[in-house]
Amino acid sequence: MNRLLLIRYGEIALKGGNRPFFEKRLLRNIQDSLWGLRPFEVTFRRGRYYVKISDDNLFAAQQRLQKVFGVVSISPVFEAELNIEDIYSEAYKLLEANYTPGMSFKVNTRRSNKNFPNTSPEVNSNTGAYLLDRGLDLKVDVHNPNIVINIDIREKGAYLYSQTIPGPGGMPVGVTGKGLLLLSGGIDSPVAGWMASKRGIEMEALHFHSPPFTGEGAINKVMDLCKVLSAYSGNITLHLAPFTEIQKQIRQNCPEPMLITLMRRIMFRVAERLALQRKISALFTGESLGQVASQTLENLVAINDVTSIPILRPLISFDKEEIINISRKINAFDISIRPFEDCCTLFVPRHPVTRPTIEELQKAEEKIPVEELVKDCLENIETRTIKSRE
Ligand code: ATP
Ligand code: MG
Repeated sequence: MNRLLLIRYGEIALKGGNRPFFEKRLLRNIQDSLWGLRPFEVTFRRGRYYVKISDDNLFAAQQRLQKVFGVVSISPVFEAELNIEDIYSEAYKLLEANYTPGMSFKVNTRRSNKNFPNTSPEVNSNTGAYLLDRGLDLKVDVHNPNIVINIDIREKGAYLYSQTIPGPGGMPVGVTGKGLLLLSGGIDSPVAGWMASKRGIEMEALHFHSPPFTGEGAINKVMDLCKVLSAYSGNITLHLAPFTEIQKQIRQNCPEPMLITLMRRIMFRVAERLALQRKISALFTGESLGQVASQTLENLVAINDVTSIPILRPLISFDKEEIINISRKINAFDISIRPFEDCCTLFVPRHPVTRPTIEELQKAEEKIPVEELVKDCLENIETRTIKSRE
């Protein structure tokens, strides 16, 4: 049997002239999310999406749709033709599917199709009476029912549902532009990426690694994190940038307390150039103000100093606890805490500077061939695609 899922969206209804653009993109993202669950049919009518799908795939579809940004809620529905008898019989099916002896119910009708002959209160009481007459152990409770049978009478049919499952909210991925996520193997940056996607950003990821000090394990970890993110954002292009030579040069030639800040300044130079090449308009990071010595305001300023592209930091005011909660919720946490070396943890100075002046950093950088290192790193980037379907 074919079943129907009703999908509601929220914020994008507000976007005025851009509305069709948002709606089309959300339609595409919904279709993409259902890969492998064919046959299905997605339609859009009057501000709602309807997915027609086989009974067997209903639950899987529901779970996938809970990861499509822009979706506010999902209801499995029974569809009735526009006559009262068919509404009765679909209401009975819905009740039966949720039936336990002694349960209470209430019927709640909304009639946006004013051509339908019965008023909402009539449909409520007639359907209620019909259900009570079916010989089940049932009672009506309008204040605190075990189940509400919602009947939505629209132009093309009536939709009956009792369950409303929350979606992730946000904006459809792809409507607000492209971002480059600086993705480490830690807890924060995947969460930052997820939050950017939630606001509609289509994401590419850039990871710096230091072979042979960081091995395949570190790369697999980052690929697994991209895989988790791709369930929300679609395929992710992952750029792997070699960082070993840069770290060696900095370590040999620059004052130890500045290592992390200097490394960051080179990372962001590389990231900016890559973003330009890929027509990406902003960088995203997992930085959070004051979380560690390298994330003081002065250090963030020192990083911004070498780039002109906007650097967006979705986690800037989040506590670690709040970040971890999201990380668990999106199933990234167990991957993030796998013990693999990150390129930045290899050369951690004992006393990192918290207040470097730009002049001091520039002076330190005179000791290394910055431009050559950036160019070399860029030229040796290896790019992979992490697919959401597989
Ligand atoms: P995370 O959990 O994201 O690693 P963190 O608290 O460990 O964050 P840092 O290691 O100081 O913080 O990194 C700050 C940010 O710099 C990261 O959130 C990430 O955006 C970027 N970053 C750090 N290391 C790398 C790396 N190896 N490759 C790409 N980006 C990185
Ligand atoms: Mg880190």
